[in-house]
Amino acid sequence: MKRVEILAVGSELLTPFFQDTNSLFLTERLNSLGLDVSFKMIVGDEEEDLVLGLEDAVRLSDLILVMGGLGPTADDRTREAAARVFGRKLIPCPEVMERIQDRFRRRGLSMPDCNRKQSLILEGAEVLRNDFGTAPGQWIDRNGKIIVLLPGPPHELKPMFDAHVLPRFECFRLGHFFRKTLKLTGITESAVEDLMTGLTPDDPSLGISILAQPGQIEIHLKSLSPSSPEEAEARLKPFENALLSRIGENVFSVDGKSLEEVVGSLLCSLNATLACAESCTGGLISHRLTNVPGISRGYLGGMIAYSNRAKTDWLGVGRDVLIASGSVSAQAAEAMAAGVRRESGADFGLAVTGIAGPGGGTPEKPVGLVYTALAEENGVESSRNLFLGDRDQIKFQSSQKALDMLRRRLLVRRP
Ligand code: ATP
Ligand code: MG
Repeated sequence: MKRVEILAVGSELLTPFFQDTNSLFLTERLNSLGLDVSFKMIVGDEEEDLVLGLEDAVRLSDLILVMGGLGPTADDRTREAAARVFGRKLIPCPEVMERIQDRFRRRGLSMPDCNRKQSLILEGAEVLRNDFGTAPGQWIDRNGKIIVLLPGPPHELKPMFDAHVLPRFECFRLGHFFRKTLKLTGITESAVEDLMTGLTPDDPSLGISILAQPGQIEIHLKSLSPSSPEEAEARLKPFENALLSRIGENVFSVDGKSLEEVVGSLLCSLNATLACAESCTGGLISHRLTNVPGISRGYLGGMIAYSNRAKTDWLGVGRDVLIASGSVSAQAAEAMAAGVRRESGADFGLAVTGIAGPGGGTPEKPVGLVYTALAEENGVESSRNLFLGDRDQIKFQSSQKALDMLRRRLLVRRP
């Protein structure tokens, strides 16, 4: 088995301000060959650190992708460090120099002297042409271990990798991956684990991982086939079906769609209309729904009824309801849902009222207490929820719960 390592170079990647996103791109491409990444390392611009990082990579791994530090400035030391580690000379390449000079000429500029070092190629390395920048990549074969030097800027690295590295990596292909993500809501991670008890793939080419965030769980499935992506998909199917039959309608999407997209297409396919009354979510549900192109057929509009007065004046929530039960109550949520449905003439009225915190909680009504309600022709139902998290997380979970309430109702209506 070949071990694969990605080594990102750049002191900025070791600060709180920049993320190494290139490695996500590279990982996706490597996975498409059936290759898993075993190690990732981020090293700053110091040449001594780069040498240590490269030595470590060569000791541990067989395929090593190094990116960044190929620029013209003094802090770009990847070439020098690689030359030291591999005991090879750096030799100026006239063709590379000509390409760099030509890039400057075409812009009516003369090449600064510092760009000269970008034409330095490790002895025995193959040059990987850079069509979008000055620094070429380098392909180094060292006793069967492959080290590839790539430029750091994403718009240079990505096309270079696809054009010049991916085809050469074909010979390392282990197979074809197929991936699928199931998205769930309305269920906790431990409940998902419980439902899945005893259900683990016995085929070692199948993989499953669960990622939970407040309000949404994703089950990532993957399958590897030696012959084709279609065969990988077929291989996964029995396990996927067994899983789906256990977790059932908690799954809202199997094709990457967001909850608002799923709700949007259900509304449109049923020719149903919706209006929202939002208190603690402050328009988040409307924002999410209006992110879906074409939703205007189903989504009529919403009201942000934050104060008690907005709830009574705009939605007709009775003062007596607010005095007897409070604005965060099942009664208030139901009256808001019925009110927005009545005022808008929509088929469905969806409402949320709750305490998003961090202040405003009491022992009876703690932070995170949120009522959602759904009104339709036959009446109105509500749900009491206790969400954990900060203000943003509580708002998101509230919007998720409300949209999911509607989704489950629309599923029942579906012919
Ligand atoms: P340059 O000629 O621009 O100096 P370089 O090959 O030396 O190219 P770096 O200096 O390491 O590359 O990075 C240039 C820019 O590319 C960085 O400022 C950063 O914005 C981006 N970059 C570098 N590495 C990464 C990475 N791993 N993920 C995402 N962006 C990156
Ligand atoms: Mg640089």
